[in-house]
Amino acid sequence: MKQARYRGRFAPSPSGPLHFGSLICALGSYLDARAQGGEWWVRIDDLDPPRVAPGAVDAILRALEAYGLTWDGSVQYQSQRSAAYEAALEALRRRGVVYACGCTRREIADSNVGRADVAIYPGTCRAGLAPHKAARAWRVDTRGARVHFEDRLQGRIEQDLEYAAGDFIVQRADGWFAYQLAAVVDDAELGITDIVRGADLIDSTLRQVYLRRLLDLPTPRYLHLPVAVNALGEKLSKQTLAPPLNMTFPQSTLIQALAFLKHAPPLALRQAAVPEILSWAIAHWSPADLPQARTIEQES
Ligand code: GLU
Repeated sequence: MKQARYRGRFAPSPSGPLHFGSLICALGSYLDARAQGGEWWVRIDDLDPPRVAPGAVDAILRALEAYGLTWDGSVQYQSQRSAAYEAALEALRRRGVVYACGCTRREIADSNVGRADVAIYPGTCRAGLAPHKAARAWRVDTRGARVHFEDRLQGRIEQDLEYAAGDFIVQRADGWFAYQLAAVVDDAELGITDIVRGADLIDSTLRQVYLRRLLDLPTPRYLHLPVAVNALGEKLSKQTLAPPLNMTFPQSTLIQALAFLKHAPPLALRQAAVPEILSWAIAHWSPADLPQARTIEQES
């Protein structure tokens, strides 16, 4: 069978401008795609309108340009794809693998059967809504769902979804579709063959692998990069006050990001222009040399 041509993507949430942590994901997925002569697309995960920061989409796209990360095709927006998500939810309903849930957050917290820090839904509405309850969200039935995938960097990853994640949400009580469903539908629609993203999304990947199985969609190859964390072990993000990327002199941050991925260019290139640094990185991209950790502390 002919192998589909490599098609990768970077899918930022526009909750703020890019920072060093998101640059690592953008750069890693870009280099992996370009090193294999593949395409690299950009999707804006603007599913959750209240969390979209004004101006963030523009700032993200301008940062990608400044760092030389040019994309193929037109930028995709999740906010324009509700019809496709609705169709996927309908397909899941027809298969009887999702159910309407009428529980409030409060009720779920009160009956928490998971670890103290993760609320695992106890499956209250699996057998149907209690008479006094109205449907709020839609959940996937994870009973017996043992899921695994082979990560190109982190090795085999498996999970018993029922106990580790519980019946997760595909459509929220406020009507918005959940990221898990949207990501699966969009990646499949675009024919994404390779997903390179941060290791903080490994738990999401397991749910997405399961959703793909339920929707009869092929599983892409996965590579989860280490995530940049601060001295407290927190992911660099807007919430942890990670500074936005340097836009006036991107070279030095680009080199820092390559060093983070254990692909530091030779000294002679330290003063080079962005396209030259990227060409070197594409030619020398070697996933076997990537650091295998799930998190790496980044000094600021
Ligand atoms: N938009 C999400 C994030 O930035 C997920 C991206 C993805 O599916 O790779 O965390």
